[in-house]
Amino acid sequence: MTRRTKIVATIGPASDSPEILNQLIEAGVDVFRLGTAHDPVDKVVERIETIRSVAAGHTRPIGVLVDLAGPKVRAAFGEGPVELVGQTTVKIHSGEEQSTDADIYVNVDDIAKSLVEGDRLHMGDGSATLVVTSVGNDYASATVERGGLMRGRPGVHVPSSRLTASSPTPEDLKYFDAVVAADVDFVAVSFVKRGRDMRALDSERPPDGPMLIAKIETQAAIDNLDSILEHSDAIMVARGDLGLEVSLPGLPALQKNIITESVAAGRPVITATQMLESMTDAPQPTRAEVTDVANAVFDGTSAVMLSGETAVGHDPVLVVKTMAEILEEAERNFDYETWSLRMRRMAPRPDEEVNDTRKVAAAMRGAASQAVMALQSRVLVAVTGTGRTAREISRFRPRADIVAVTPSERVARQLCLSWAVVPLVGSLDGTGTKRAMAILSRIRDAGHLKPGELVPMVLGNSNSALLSNVMRIENVPN
Ligand code: PEP
Repeated sequence: MTRRTKIVATIGPASDSPEILNQLIEAGVDVFRLGTAHDPVDKVVERIETIRSVAAGHTRPIGVLVDLAGPKVRAAFGEGPVELVGQTTVKIHSGEEQSTDADIYVNVDDIAKSLVEGDRLHMGDGSATLVVTSVGNDYASATVERGGLMRGRPGVHVPSSRLTASSPTPEDLKYFDAVVAADVDFVAVSFVKRGRDMRALDSERPPDGPMLIAKIETQAAIDNLDSILEHSDAIMVARGDLGLEVSLPGLPALQKNIITESVAAGRPVITATQMLESMTDAPQPTRAEVTDVANAVFDGTSAVMLSGETAVGHDPVLVVKTMAEILEEAERNFDYETWSLRMRRMAPRPDEEVNDTRKVAAAMRGAASQAVMALQSRVLVAVTGTGRTAREISRFRPRADIVAVTPSERVARQLCLSWAVVPLVGSLDGTGTKRAMAILSRIRDAGHLKPGELVPMVLGNSNSALLSNVMRIENVPN
């Protein structure tokens, strides 16, 4: 069986050369992630082009995800490190001036009006913490609860309920237009608070545009998960910012819940941040990290994400190899039966109409998993124009690999996030048995099936408006 949980790797200075990108694909990366916080638009577009040209040398499709920064609050420090010393008092102002150990300038207007006494502000992804003690007209005063070294433009995590700016920002839209034109496969949206935030980009994208990923990292997003799921194509459990927004001990249960709800809604879900953090510098992960990655698999995640580990780490290729090994071992211990039962028992979501399409999908899914069990087949073939059939089957976690054949290169790249889906570009021309045999020959030639093997196939009837509504069981031709 091939690895089923997908790997998303963030690209940065440690990994953006064609040589390393090539080795990362060989090590198992399914989707490359590019941030927008530190790079201008043309650099992001250039990286997409480099990834595309490296991926062209591989038979496996590779996806590209651009992660929009959203309304991130940042403080301006210079090059040299500035130490914020524990138990000292600092003033927080709005402005672009260079910050010192006593005056911190952030890129948000009227910051003092947004804060209230007692607010906890985490700086540089939690390396220093300030507690607001009083709020004036022009600035807020705070005590440094935990000190730390600041340089460059560290993020300042302000409780999201205090900020009026919403996602996507005008800056996000600028990146969005450029990366859509560069044919990106996925766009992730930061600091989403409600379904409406996702709708703004949905209306901007062309019909065959990127899949939209909502990053769940605010309390509001937790509260509005249903409406966000309705308006998103995929979800990211963005544990970095989410861990600053909610109590850390509450994070594991939230992760489980977001994953279950997302998969049940048919949305691929990525678990992100600090998965193998120690490997940014070390040659081995910690026991806790290995357990965390395996638990994300047991929670049902579709994909896991590497951030600094591959963007700035000392050995990005080793990190991906290590991740792949942990995933494969965890998958051997995944409880397939319980998962599938749980998914079947979950009530339809409020926005889901129980219409004919849904009933047909449920019947096909049931028939396909029965066939996999009865035939003990290694592979289940999903023939798909849009990717929906493969995603629909994937959420029930069958034991077989789901080889998804699609004529669209974009759909193939977008299926790189879906659990156990092996995307394959191939023609769907023709009808009936001839068409089925041509598809099976394509899969055999790609090395995923052996001649003579019995295999179940789920296909659409091209004359029907329904989702896939035909199931065949065939011997793979010689
Ligand atoms: C996160 O907060 O976990 C995350 C993935 O977002 P970013 O890396 O943009 O902070």
